[in-house]
Amino acid sequence: MLSRLLMVLLLMGVIFPAVGSAGGQEIVVYSARKEHLIKPLFDRYTQKTGVEIKYITGKAGALLERLKAEGENTPADLFITVDAGNLWRAARVGVLQPVASKVLAENVPAHLRDPGQNWFGLSVRARTLVYNTRAGVLDRLSTYEALADPAWKGKLVLRTSKKVYNQSLVASLIADHGPQEAENMVAGWVANLAADPFANDTKALEAVAAGIGDVTIVNTYYFGRLLKKQPDLPLAIFWPNQGSSGVHVNVSGAGITAHAKHRQAALQLLEWLSGTEAQQQFAALNMEYPVNAQVEVDPLVKEWGGFVANPMNVARYGELQAEAIKLMDRVNYK
Ligand code: FE
Repeated sequence: MLSRLLMVLLLMGVIFPAVGSAGGQEIVVYSARKEHLIKPLFDRYTQKTGVEIKYITGKAGALLERLKAEGENTPADLFITVDAGNLWRAARVGVLQPVASKVLAENVPAHLRDPGQNWFGLSVRARTLVYNTRAGVLDRLSTYEALADPAWKGKLVLRTSKKVYNQSLVASLIADHGPQEAENMVAGWVANLAADPFANDTKALEAVAAGIGDVTIVNTYYFGRLLKKQPDLPLAIFWPNQGSSGVHVNVSGAGITAHAKHRQAALQLLEWLSGTEAQQQFAALNMEYPVNAQVEVDPLVKEWGGFVANPMNVARYGELQAEAIKLMDRVNYK
């Protein structure tokens, strides 16, 4: 009789078999952040807590579609992805749930998380200017906006407008300047292109290094990766908008899924990822910046110098994403 009651309670999930303190618990993560950037942290968390973390990695869009298709049957508890535009979209289509967490509110600055608490930034990525050091242009560099000036005709290299990073950048221009002025600027960029937009940030950097153009707009970690492999490339970082809006920053981040089966455990992991112990490594593994202000920037990243970042709430990039895409389409930014 007793054993039968025990079995029923076990099936109902009311009590857990005693397998160590936290043993037997698991969390399922869908991650658009690549395996080598998350696995070391997950391994450390499991070692510390005994909580098993199962994960799959994939492209941001594909994982979001999967979450939508699985609906309430999803095994995923935590969704990790890159770009506030993607996080915003995930919240918008209802695959995330809001969480009230004092720890996350303390560790993640307000402008780097969803005002609705559906997602939280875990690392900061700066989208900045990189120029060819042999082109003699340093004293003419100033802002993203100034790259629309005809003085840069045939000198600007850009990545495709299809990438969410650029959609977020243009969204921030709309937020800072209004739609008409933003459109004039992006039209100016297109008029100044040295070549058709490139498929990714690395190809854009290589084009500038090869002298196809003088300057491009990329995330700093791509610069870091390329220079690690080819330290002699004639490329350097320039921090734009230091007397105005600040450098455009974005986040990688995460949210608890709407139908998480291990909600509390996933929240504990998310809180840990935002804490001092995990933040250093989470940012450093991809040469990014920690969101947690208590944590030091990686020494290699620090060499690129300090900068003032645009303090805009990154959720704006999601809110203005559709408008940004239409704008880029109108000015024929491919
Ligand atoms: Fe990236």
